[in-house]
Amino acid sequence: RFEYAPAPESTAIVDIKPSYGLFINGEFVSGKDGAAFKTVNPATEEVLAEITEAEPSDVDAAVKAARTAYDKVWSKLKPAERGKYLFRIARIIAERARELAVLESIDNGKPIRESRDVDIPLVSAHFFYYAGWADKLAYAGFGPAPQPLGVAAQVIPWNFPLLMLAWKIAPALACGNTVVLKPAETTPLTALAFAEICQQADLPPGVVNIVTGAGDTGRTLVEHPGVNKVAFTGSTDVGKAIARSVAGTAKKVTLELGGKAANIVFDDAPIDQAVEGIVNGIFFNQGHVCCAGSRLLIQESVYDEVLDSLKRRLMTLRVGDPLDKNTDVGAINSAAQLEKIRELSQIGENEGAHRWSPPCELPDRGFWFAPTLFTEVTQAHRIAREEIFGPVLSVLSFRTPGEAVEKANNTPYGLSAGVWTEKGSLILSMANKLRAGVVWANTFNKFDPTSPFGGYKESGYGREGGRHGLEAYLNV
Ligand code: NAD
Repeated sequence: RFEYAPAPESTAIVDIKPSYGLFINGEFVSGKDGAAFKTVNPATEEVLAEITEAEPSDVDAAVKAARTAYDKVWSKLKPAERGKYLFRIARIIAERARELAVLESIDNGKPIRESRDVDIPLVSAHFFYYAGWADKLAYAGFGPAPQPLGVAAQVIPWNFPLLMLAWKIAPALACGNTVVLKPAETTPLTALAFAEICQQADLPPGVVNIVTGAGDTGRTLVEHPGVNKVAFTGSTDVGKAIARSVAGTAKKVTLELGGKAANIVFDDAPIDQAVEGIVNGIFFNQGHVCCAGSRLLIQESVYDEVLDSLKRRLMTLRVGDPLDKNTDVGAINSAAQLEKIRELSQIGENEGAHRWSPPCELPDRGFWFAPTLFTEVTQAHRIAREEIFGPVLSVLSFRTPGEAVEKANNTPYGLSAGVWTEKGSLILSMANKLRAGVVWANTFNKFDPTSPFGGYKESGYGREGGRHGLEAYLNV
């Protein structure tokens, strides 16, 4: 697979400052009480920069800036003019793609091949897509022009830092809202680079505000009375806490939460293709993916064949330097996440599942976890029920399509699922029976700005992406 070994992507193309302020009203400003935290490179544990920890009065200033920009500028602008700003942002992202990809890989730990070929291209595609909606919304026959909601509070996780920002900010702005966004505390750098891009695009001050900080900053933001809409992506526990905190207010809420997706392989599936899909399903982005195919269901008659082939394939995975273009699996995003993955994997062993990893040498420094398979897993095991959010796959088997549906749906989550079979009729009947927002057939982890994405059950409510993603930011 590796005919040549190009040099690792150079860090020289990124300009990381020693410290960053908050982005409020079009400018970088210091926090009121001077508190700060550090963001580190998870592959080396090297400190990358000092980041401002926003306190409540900073959050208040950001919400007020967003309100003023909404009232005085953004909601008054012709929709086509709003679209022009979004097109401009999309173009700048495309132009600065290499730099953003390197920055994302350094701060998050994901392989450069993924940030370069998946994350950043999808970020600019999202802005292009929603830029195109700005004027269509007003004039393309949806009846009376729908109204924006006002100020949106947006809180995002660390697994796809810039992509989650794009999913939140692009539709919000296209619909005429202004935003205050809080990136995750371990991956703030690309959101801060995005703030610079807003300046570069001459976006009116206050339309986009970025406040950095930990969970408390997020809570202050979503609870702020000046906010009209809350959009959250993150864990189910925090999502539920947010739903409770906004109950009794008029805020509109969308929640994109956790998952425990089943990837189902039928006996007629093309095995090699399915194995690639299984690997992509769980080891893409170190398994830090809400829709990761973390439960593999294999039909009994091909169980041994699929498992053997999968193990052989895992022997070829390269774990290591995220900036090396040959790397398949990068670093775990944080020490805390590594600890959670270790703990759940240990519980898997203690509960009697069989653990296997390919031989692989992990770097001494940084946060690393070898790709891991668990077999002899039962549905009662915690590794079959709880989201691990790491490179750990639990393997189960089934006999009939009915049993596959029952096992796949036996989870409080319902974000995604995968089906591997040559039979079109089986794909259609499975897609109807699986209680999941996305069902992929003979592929996995495919995203596109035109497609709505979101959960059933405890995976949340509301959709992001596509035409449906606009509904979260409009009053019709
Ligand atoms: P998390 O819930 O701990 O944190 C997410 C964000 O919320 C962070 O910015 C954090 O600072 C903030 N936050 C924490 N406590 C808060 C509070 N009380 N009020 C407001 N904000 C608060 O999740 P995480 O560990 O960063 O991300 C992993 C989780 O995100 C996984 O469960 C994953 O499945 C989920 N996720 C879901 C999707 C999706 O689209 N459904 C996408 C990516 C990740």
